[in-house]
Amino acid sequence: MSDHPRTLVIEHAKIRTSPDTPLIDPGAILVQEGQIVEVGGHVDAPSTVPVVDARGGVVVAGFWNSHVHFTEPRWRSAKTQRHEELERSLADMLTSRGFTSAVDLGSDPRVVFPLRRRVATGELLGPDLYVGGTGLFPPHGIPYYLRDSIPWYVRWLVPQPRTPGAATRYVAQNQARGSDVLKLFTGSYVERRKVVPMPAPIARAAASAAHARGQLVFAHSSNLEGTIIARDAGVDVLAHAPSDTEGVDRPLLQSLVGSRMAMIPTLKMFGTTVTRNPAYLGPIYDVLRGFRDLGGELWFGTDVGYMTDYSTEGEFEALHEAGLDAREILRMLTITPARRISRVPNAGSITPGVAADLVILEGDPFEDIGAFARVRTTIGRGRVLWSGSEGTSRSRPAVPSSEK
Ligand SMILES: [Zn+2]
Repeated sequence: MSDHPRTLVIEHAKIRTSPDTPLIDPGAILVQEGQIVEVGGHVDAPSTVPVVDARGGVVVAGFWNSHVHFTEPRWRSAKTQRHEELERSLADMLTSRGFTSAVDLGSDPRVVFPLRRRVATGELLGPDLYVGGTGLFPPHGIPYYLRDSIPWYVRWLVPQPRTPGAATRYVAQNQARGSDVLKLFTGSYVERRKVVPMPAPIARAAASAAHARGQLVFAHSSNLEGTIIARDAGVDVLAHAPSDTEGVDRPLLQSLVGSRMAMIPTLKMFGTTVTRNPAYLGPIYDVLRGFRDLGGELWFGTDVGYMTDYSTEGEFEALHEAGLDAREILRMLTITPARRISRVPNAGSITPGVAADLVILEGDPFEDIGAFARVRTTIGRGRVLWSGSEGTSRSRPAVPSSEK
């Protein structure tokens, strides 16, 4: 329960308060009642405040994973399961990777709403959750990777509205359950090489219903047509880079940037679940670079839950290989998503008055990109959510091909 203190002082740390400010070395951070109170070379903390010695580590703002799912069997009892067991699962997937916030883009409502509530009340140590709940698919648009293996307990996954009115009703149902965001499949891979688009009036109706409640809309767009439908519907975030890049040219990318659409690349997912073939990955990397060069907003996400390999190294390596530097990656992980979606004002940097979401890394990612994945301690709203001494596994085997 909530006997974990929300007041602590981090000492002997190197601190990157934001991606664009110089390193403080050495520095200290005072956290009181879950909020950052003071940051600097030295802070005046009462002697009763617990000390976290961050010697040798680098402190950055808590990470955002903006594309996750809680669909695996381990979450099925999330409503009633003992918090220790759930915390192990949350650590494995998220908090041991530095994530203090996560955006669910389609999970069983009976799992994800209780999870969000139990974290929010402080009963459960976990990341702050933003819930998409049930995603919307095109008519006859269930993706091939769900269709063949869809168990009864994920049938909620498949609303396929045939009219704008039906789409609006699905969104309203989702909102009545308490959703935070909306996920649309504006282009759905019904076969490996066949994308079914969501009819544009249905996408527009769904997105408008979400925007009317101040919700952001995420889309799995897949190809050119799905991306245009997403753009024209006013979608805010592409949940993946388009993987069929044919026709995705500079003017199209320019129009996405112009409509302030953000993109979550999910490069490791493509390389793991589809193919590592450079003929496939190269054009996706080109789209990412082109979008970035035009000023497009990038968010970090890994599609864990769909991906059973939770480790983050591969995504950091792929982003770096695609040409992004540590500063850009730290923006994707923190301030860029936080300022668009966070419920907490001014989140995403280490600043007095802001919620104390912090990660202590073993090393400086500005010197070695791999340090983003070497998490020592994760602090959410001033509580230690996870600490390396607990020995959570760092990587698990990739999804077997039969389960994709
Ligand atoms: Zn996904």
